[in-house]
Amino acid sequence: MEVLIGNLCGFCPGVEYTVKKAEEALKENKMIYCLGEIVHNERVIAKLQDMGMITVKSVDDIPNNSKVIFRAHGEAKSIYERAKQKGLEVIDLTCGKVRIIHDLVEKQKESFIIIIGKKTHPETIGTKGFAKQDSFVIETEDDIVSAYEAYKRSKLNQIYIVEQTTFSKELFKELVNKIKDVFNESNITVENTICDATEKRQTEVMELSKKTNKMIIIGGKQSSNTKELYNIAINNCKEVYLIQEPEEIKNVRFNNDDIVGIMTGASTPKEIVEEVKQYLK
Ligand code: SF4
Repeated sequence: MEVLIGNLCGFCPGVEYTVKKAEEALKENKMIYCLGEIVHNERVIAKLQDMGMITVKSVDDIPNNSKVIFRAHGEAKSIYERAKQKGLEVIDLTCGKVRIIHDLVEKQKESFIIIIGKKTHPETIGTKGFAKQDSFVIETEDDIVSAYEAYKRSKLNQIYIVEQTTFSKELFKELVNKIKDVFNESNITVENTICDATEKRQTEVMELSKKTNKMIIIGGKQSSNTKELYNIAINNCKEVYLIQEPEEIKNVRFNNDDIVGIMTGASTPKEIVEEVKQYLK
């Protein structure tokens, strides 16, 4: 059996930074709250929780004057304001690439903002929370007509489009073309804000899945970028397995002539790749 491992397996730069900074902070403080799951990986969360991190769903679940981590996905502006009211010390680990989108969106005082991304994704919710004017999230083609109606109601005459950093680059292109058709306006600005780390990983998984007859994608079941890697792989390779831990492939039948590809989502540590590789051996 041949095993091909993606060069980009392991944490993306933003997650690498988040986990490192969280570990450093936890070495100095016994208890730090984290607003939402720090990354979509149960193993990483468990390790940080053992060090004293407490994951909460809402800023209102955090006692006043505590320390709180804002994770790489970023938070809406109103959450920063609420944290200030509660006297929280914020360890802001918002990824620099997400911060750029917040700044871009916040500056658009005269534009109707369209965010192409998953409606329930924390990054999208955070970005929407920086829009000064009306905004709309488009996740699928079905949302475009409602977005157009909202734009007309807004009385704005410019449209500014950004993208969730981990969204599909192919779907983004398709949706932008359809938005241009439906809106039929000349004043549309499109910022390609997909993260280059995401884009490179998507390209690599596409190439890898064309060369293999089985693909193993390792990542959290809640991870948007991992699901996207799975979707790309399944278009090119008949058998694709999305797993979080090596034991999840124990019922898969591997053959001597298999060519197996391995890729991880952006919040999966590289050590799990080694464990899967050992298992395959
Ligand atoms: S995927 Fe990109 S934007 Fe998201 S945390 Fe990683 S480096 Fe930052």
